[in-house]
Amino acid sequence: MVKGMDSKVESVYVTVSIDTECDHDVNWARSNPLTCHSINRGLPEILQPAFEQVGAVPTYLLTIEVLEDLESVETLRNLKGSFEYGTHLHAGFVEPQKKHYNYAGVDCPDFQSSYPPEIEYQKLATITRKFESELGYKPTSFRAGRFGASTDTINSLQKLGYKVDTSVTPKIKWVEPNGVVDFRKAPEQPYFPGDSIVSVGSPADNRILEVPVTVKPPRLRRQPKWFRPWFATVDEMKAVFEYHLKMYADQKIVTVNMMFHSMEVIEKASPYPQTADEVKRFVDDMQQVLQWCGEEGAQFCGLSDLHSIYQN
Ligand SMILES: [Zn+2]
Repeated sequence: MVKGMDSKVESVYVTVSIDTECDHDVNWARSNPLTCHSINRGLPEILQPAFEQVGAVPTYLLTIEVLEDLESVETLRNLKGSFEYGTHLHAGFVEPQKKHYNYAGVDCPDFQSSYPPEIEYQKLATITRKFESELGYKPTSFRAGRFGASTDTINSLQKLGYKVDTSVTPKIKWVEPNGVVDFRKAPEQPYFPGDSIVSVGSPADNRILEVPVTVKPPRLRRQPKWFRPWFATVDEMKAVFEYHLKMYADQKIVTVNMMFHSMEVIEKASPYPQTADEVKRFVDDMQQVLQWCGEEGAQFCGLSDLHSIYQN
């Protein structure tokens, strides 16, 4: 274990949280014509086998486009192995106040947190019901599209029975035409939110657990480093992992939460890998760093598993 001599860390968990969506184009508009190769090829042929090889347990956070696509739902139902499914909301594509009915070629950067709280709640209820009707059980993990979550989001998710949210990106403030979310003061390790999405409350009231996307704070004016293939090299991802173990050496549990999109393993389906070679590099880097985390003593689990781990 990379932890130092006087570390109190007893367990290290690694989660892999994946925004799982229809294919996009290099500018983040939805593909035209709309395709779902990232589900039908990406999950069974690329991602799940890659995770199984290194013992990782991914959490696939599903958008409404995926849950409305019959072939994708069939793929999801038939996927074998260890994984969790949760939900991922892009607010402009879900009722009420849905903005787009033909998704092909469309981008809609709306933050869900910029809608009135009751509308946001209904949007979350819609995608939650759709997940349940297609997959037969209730989802318990969630991430907001474009990370556009607020304290209202947390409260709505809790009302809908969710156990874990992973919308918070510490050290980062996001700005879209319809709003701003500011996570610059958010904790870096999982916490039960208090009065606000970025404040720490008590685990006693069965509160939803916030599992932030893992970053390493920036030096000077540079950007934070993500624990994320393509955004960071293998060595940089290892450094992010080591930063968390060192920084939180006084805690019993340390968690590192990788994030990316399912579309990143299909060439030209996101702004990132554009060729088969680049996809291969993406998957190789991801496997290398996860394998290394396992060798360092980390355990892999689904996002929702962390709720009971942190309550005890
Ligand atoms: Zn998304």
